[in-house]
Amino acid sequence: MQNLSVNGDRLWSTIMETASFGGTPDGGVRRLALSEEDRQVRDWLVAACEAIGCSVHVDRLGSIFAFRPGSDETALPVAMGSHLDTQPTGGKFDGVLGVLAGLEVLRTLEERNVRTRHPLVLVNWTNEEGSRFAPAMMASGVHAGVFTPEEILARTDRDGMTVGSALASIGYDGPMAPGALSFDSMFELHIEQGPILEAEEKSVGVVTGVQGMRWFRLEVEGQAAHAGTTPMDLRRDALMAATEMMLEIRDAAIEHGALATFGTLSVENGSQNVIPGKVYLTLDLRSPDNDHLDAVESVVVSLAKDPRFARTPVRYECIWRKSPVTFDRACVEIVAQSAEAAGASSRPIVSGAGHDAAYVADIAPTAMIFVPCHDGLSHNPAESTTSQQCTIGAQVLLNAVLSRAGVDEAAPGAITE
Ligand SMILES: [Zn+2]
Repeated sequence: MQNLSVNGDRLWSTIMETASFGGTPDGGVRRLALSEEDRQVRDWLVAACEAIGCSVHVDRLGSIFAFRPGSDETALPVAMGSHLDTQPTGGKFDGVLGVLAGLEVLRTLEERNVRTRHPLVLVNWTNEEGSRFAPAMMASGVHAGVFTPEEILARTDRDGMTVGSALASIGYDGPMAPGALSFDSMFELHIEQGPILEAEEKSVGVVTGVQGMRWFRLEVEGQAAHAGTTPMDLRRDALMAATEMMLEIRDAAIEHGALATFGTLSVENGSQNVIPGKVYLTLDLRSPDNDHLDAVESVVVSLAKDPRFARTPVRYECIWRKSPVTFDRACVEIVAQSAEAAGASSRPIVSGAGHDAAYVADIAPTAMIFVPCHDGLSHNPAESTTSQQCTIGAQVLLNAVLSRAGVDEAAPGAITE
């Protein structure tokens, strides 16, 4: 099927067209989940899918499933998709690319009259970003059975509006039970959101998995005292103790190939001439390997018991854990071969960010395709990638879907040229 090519200009024009829904003057996109702008882009997507003969279904969480029949009515659908919502300071590509590339695949097949053996389904997952409503990836999480529909429908935004009423207000409180549609497999195309592919001049990242994540809250207790009258060796300085711990945790992360980020740190009642009495900090710990996460976490545990810090006791709490995801080996191999067939340079890569595919991987063979983005920037109006990169990504998606879904050779269509 190497002769079947996506239409890169058409894909690019749909990216630019949909960027107007929630478009901001600085070239970014602000399209919070279940907002009026989200309704507009959803309506656009539904119309585009129906125009090429897809039947469109919406589940109770508002996720959109555009279905294209295959020649084998008993075969499960091969899914493609991502999300159309953005962060408040979002760009034109994060999430959107994966949905619109899936649409481009369907348009290409329709135009060339190609019938796959498995049906195909294009998915727009509701609220991947988790900005207006927490948690992130909520609809794919429900689809995978990680959350119940009821608990998610009851979540509220800052104004107290529930997910359920927000869905109803934009007309996307669908009838389908979440998870009712089983997938043969799913492929998600996404921008990398990191600098690796660009730095190595690779066009495609063959995503082998998603890092595991653990979030901690830490609290170090010292004693506030006068900065001018308390000798150094008699102090109980919470911030000095926290600093030593942070450096040791950083060293442990480096040793085990993990990523440790102390994203927030605050001194209670901080004052220029007062020894810090109490410090609060957060740790975001990530690694593709659970053993490495365990190793760094054990350093956190041992620091909390270390006699060196007896005068500045540490309390810690793990508030969220997500195990690393290893994508299906066969699907990852299909992506690698699809990149090669597209003539694209590629390398294996582990996703540092969470994606809907990380939940779908719990219930169906799944893989992801990354394309580079400029300076690794995302969640920023300046987020950018080129039309050429988007085209390559969509072509790899098309190749992968055809490889997995199979082509009905008996059906009329442009199989060979
Ligand atoms: Zn995304």
